[in-house]
Amino acid sequence: MSDILVVNSGSSSLKYQLIEMATERTLASGLIERIGEGAGRAVHTIPWDEVPSVDRADAPSTTERELPIPDHVAAFRVMLDAFEAHGPSLAEHRPVAVGHRVVHGGKRFFEPTVVTELVKINIADLAELAPLHNPANLQGIEAAEHVFPDVPHVVVFDTAFHQTLPPAAYSYAIDADVAEQYRVRRYGFHGTSHKYVSEQAALLVGRPLGELRQLVLHLGNGASITAIDGGRSVETSMGMTPLEGLVMGTRSGDIDPAVLVHLHRRAGYDFDALDTLLNKRSGLLGLAGTNDVRDVLESRAAGDPAATLAFDVYVHRLKAYVGAYFAQLGGVDVISFTAGVGENAAPVRAAALAGLERLGIELDASRNEVRSREARVISTDASEVVVLVVPTNEELEIARQTLEVVEA
Ligand code: AMP
Repeated sequence: MSDILVVNSGSSSLKYQLIEMATERTLASGLIERIGEGAGRAVHTIPWDEVPSVDRADAPSTTERELPIPDHVAAFRVMLDAFEAHGPSLAEHRPVAVGHRVVHGGKRFFEPTVVTELVKINIADLAELAPLHNPANLQGIEAAEHVFPDVPHVVVFDTAFHQTLPPAAYSYAIDADVAEQYRVRRYGFHGTSHKYVSEQAALLVGRPLGELRQLVLHLGNGASITAIDGGRSVETSMGMTPLEGLVMGTRSGDIDPAVLVHLHRRAGYDFDALDTLLNKRSGLLGLAGTNDVRDVLESRAAGDPAATLAFDVYVHRLKAYVGAYFAQLGGVDVISFTAGVGENAAPVRAAALAGLERLGIELDASRNEVRSREARVISTDASEVVVLVVPTNEELEIARQTLEVVEA
């Protein structure tokens, strides 16, 4: 039996999922938070259908512990304890490999890669481009190697799917020598999700991936849109970092770069202050005081002007990108919405695609309102462009790619 452990390590958190690859079922998942912060917290969840029926009465599907978790190795030990205490048994479900999410693979990594010392040096080197993420990802890899020394570790990069971008899409129009020397170019992110969703979408419409021109709108707390031609990413909205493009929960997305110069000169903002402003205090939070689309929708429905503006700015940007990518592809067959906002917020989907009938896009209002965890069509039968909601599953995609590498 081949099971894969998928790990997503942040600077103070560790998310994990154990996936049985024969069935692609999640056997357990967990979140360990506040690593290195004194009072840590660990949540371990077994999906209800995995809890043995004999134990169901007293086997909670979710267990929670509070305890100090000084570092990532300790976090993995807490994870092992949770498997030991609540199952499933790792002796029975020994992972054949560990798949790690890594945010930035630069232009070196275009496919999932088995971890070696050289690969780790390269991930550390790329920290310059993703200072918040790559070092934390690397900490997770090293801790996992310590706890699982006998299995291969595989890294799957958020940027890898976008390695097919043509130069016209990845080059910024700045001094070419400066760009080359400092590795300034578009890399794109959320690649694992864009790849997974575009493949699911092809299955759902029953046409070969290679024939389809697709847009995937990954709208979560972070948000990006990708144009996919025949399964290859040809344009994407995030850039050298995950700040560019759409309006997000706390990130500004596109902004005139001269605003930074202005705020520095006029208001004394230094680089850290600008970084914090654009990454943590902007987007929906900056406009409406909340980064959660649920709250924005609620306040907007109650007539709140700031929430109304935040919604309008969010949707205006999204629609502009849909139009631009439509033009880049010369037509679109399928549009898929995914992630927390894309999967759940019907008003966002409706507003983003409203008035685009001339492009062959026609949403079905009642299909769009259906709440479901399943992939589904939300366009009318007459719509030339098929519009879908496709729940993303980055962990499963990482597990699939990890298995492919270890079986190769
Ligand atoms: P993600 O990053 O994919 O986990 O998405 C998280 C975001 O999805 C949250 O910040 C919410 O804004 C949004 N979200 C989650 N559930 C809903 C919902 N039922 N309606 C609207 N937005 C939602």
